[in-house]
Amino acid sequence: MCCGGSKHLESNNHSFQETAPWAQGERWEKEERDRGFLVTSGNIFIRWFLGLLCRTEGSKDTKKRYLEKVLHAVFFFGQIHVLPIEPEEFIAEEHQQRLKSQYPAPFEQCRSHLPTKTLCSIALDYVTETFSPTLQRMDQYLEECNRDLWQHVQEMQLKASEFAFCAAVVARSVYKDPRSKAGLQPFYGASLSCKGWAQRRIMIDVSCLETWHPAVAYAVYHGGTGKAIIFPDGVWSKAMRFDHQFLQYQEKPPCRKCRQMFQKVNFRPCPRGHRQEKWQYGNCAETEAFSKLLQGNRAASEGIRSSANENIEAFANVTEPAFRARVIEELRRRNFEVANLQFFEPV
Ligand SMILES: [Zn+2]
Repeated sequence: MCCGGSKHLESNNHSFQETAPWAQGERWEKEERDRGFLVTSGNIFIRWFLGLLCRTEGSKDTKKRYLEKVLHAVFFFGQIHVLPIEPEEFIAEEHQQRLKSQYPAPFEQCRSHLPTKTLCSIALDYVTETFSPTLQRMDQYLEECNRDLWQHVQEMQLKASEFAFCAAVVARSVYKDPRSKAGLQPFYGASLSCKGWAQRRIMIDVSCLETWHPAVAYAVYHGGTGKAIIFPDGVWSKAMRFDHQFLQYQEKPPCRKCRQMFQKVNFRPCPRGHRQEKWQYGNCAETEAFSKLLQGNRAASEGIRSSANENIEAFANVTEPAFRARVIEELRRRNFEVANLQFFEPV
C-alpha cells in the first residue's frame, strides 16, 4: 500500500523522518517497485479494454467515450503516484502518437480533472450499456471478461496483489416490487479497483460527491457509527468474488459493515452460517450496485429512508463540503494542486 507523497511524508509521517537512512532507502525502493507495477497494470488494462471494444457491438461514439474514460483514469492514477508517471509511459511507443492525436483529452486533462469511477467500474458500465442479456448470461459474460483480463495479467507475470486495477468483487442488486412483482432489472456494481489507501480514500470521497446516490453517500459517510439507510421491501443483493486461482466467480456473503449500512436487504448468499468477513475499506461492490439501483428504479428510491429519520437529501449539504475539502487536501499531498474539483467527462 502506498504511504503518501513527499509532502505527505514530511508533514504527516514523523517516523519516516526519524527512521534510519537505510530504511528510507527501502521505502523508496518499494515505491519504485509499486511504480513499475502501476505502469504494467495500466498498460494491461488499456490493451485489455481495447480488445473488449473490438469484440463488442457498441457504437463508434460509445466506444470512443469509454476508451477516453479508461485512458484518463489510468493516467490520473499515474499522476497521483508518489513517483508520478507520464501518460506516455503506459503505452507502447508505436501507439503513442496515434492515441494522442485521436484522444487528446485524457492526455491533457489527467493533470487537472478527476475520474468519477475506477477502471473496472468504467468497464462494467460499458458492458452493461452495450449488452442487455438475461441475468445469468450477464454473470457469465462478466466472468469471461474477468478471465480474459486475468490472462493478460498472468502473461505479464504480475501477481494478483501487484495488479493495481483489480476489482475483486462484483455485486448485483434487484428491486422486486412486492405488490406488482414488477422490476427485476439487475444493477451491477464493482468494488473499487485502485491500489493504495490514499487512492481509495480519494475515490470513495469522489464517489460520494459525484457518482453515488445521496442515500448511499449518507450510509458511507456514517459507516460504522450506527446511522444507516433502510430499503423498502423487495431489494435483493448478491455478490461474487473472482477467484484468481480458478478464474471464476464464487458467491460471497456481505460483510458486517454492508449489513449494518444497508438494512432490510435480502442478501444472497445469506450471511447467517458464514464467517463474518472483515471490512476492507472501500472494497464492497454492494455500494455501487445499490447506488445504481436507487438511481435507476424510482420505486426503490422513493421507499428509502434514514434509520435516524433524517432528511437524506438535505444531509448532502453537510457531507458535501467535508468530502470536497478532504479530496482537495489528499490531492495536494500528492502534488496534484486544484482549487476546485473538476471531473473528466468526454464530449
Ligand atoms: Zn461490504
